[in-house]
Amino acid sequence: MEIIDTHAHLYSAEFDSDRDAMIERAVKAGLTKILMPNIDSESIDGMMALAEKYPELCRPSMGLHPCSVQPENWKAELDLCYSWLRKHPFVAIGECGMDLYWDQSTKEIQAEALEIQCSWALEFDLPMIIHSRNATPECIEIIRPWAKKGAKGVFHCFSGTLEEALEITSMGWYLGIGGVITFKKSDLGSIAKQVDGKYLLLETDAPYLAPVPYRGKRNESSYLAYVNETLGEHLLAGRREIAKTTTDNAKRLFSGL
Ligand SMILES: [Zn+2]
Repeated sequence: MEIIDTHAHLYSAEFDSDRDAMIERAVKAGLTKILMPNIDSESIDGMMALAEKYPELCRPSMGLHPCSVQPENWKAELDLCYSWLRKHPFVAIGECGMDLYWDQSTKEIQAEALEIQCSWALEFDLPMIIHSRNATPECIEIIRPWAKKGAKGVFHCFSGTLEEALEITSMGWYLGIGGVITFKKSDLGSIAKQVDGKYLLLETDAPYLAPVPYRGKRNESSYLAYVNETLGEHLLAGRREIAKTTTDNAKRLFSGL
């Protein structure tokens, strides 16, 4: 069984003590590719080192996270991402997007930074990894005209409504399904059931958002198996079938994997 983790911060300090063992567990669990989204200038070195150490397995994506869009340096941060995109191959642009949960004061520059990164998606012909928290309508509004021009991507760790899910998939965009689907009160499973299965991707968002039975603990890519299984329960499909569908989906969107 082959599965792909389309979102994991394996370079995070949370893995400093056992990173290689953690990656070995992921391979044993059937992970064949792990997509690492960048955060900002401070995460680049660790991410690139890991991509160099595991070139087949750990694949990098370049962009600026909305929580790192700060008035004093966001343009310099974007310039750095852009210079990396020009000199090195990446699988995607991101993660980028809008986060109005942590900070609303930067809403306008977050939107501007997202707009710029949408233009990169077309310039470099790469799919996008969108982080949207309390900001899904805002993100959809910014992205829609770019999608019409051919930009593609995923709303990672999708947490919106069914209407938003249908809006996203009707643009030909994807939904990242993570550990939240295993939480008792989550409606993500029923939403997943009502969208076209060809737009569903698996992800962990490690080290965050661990699935049951590890909820509240550090998350890692090997736990993707729990997400795969729970998605199967909702879609009334076996785990092999879900693994095959979501792996095909990931390879279709992220052709550079
Ligand atoms: Zn992330």
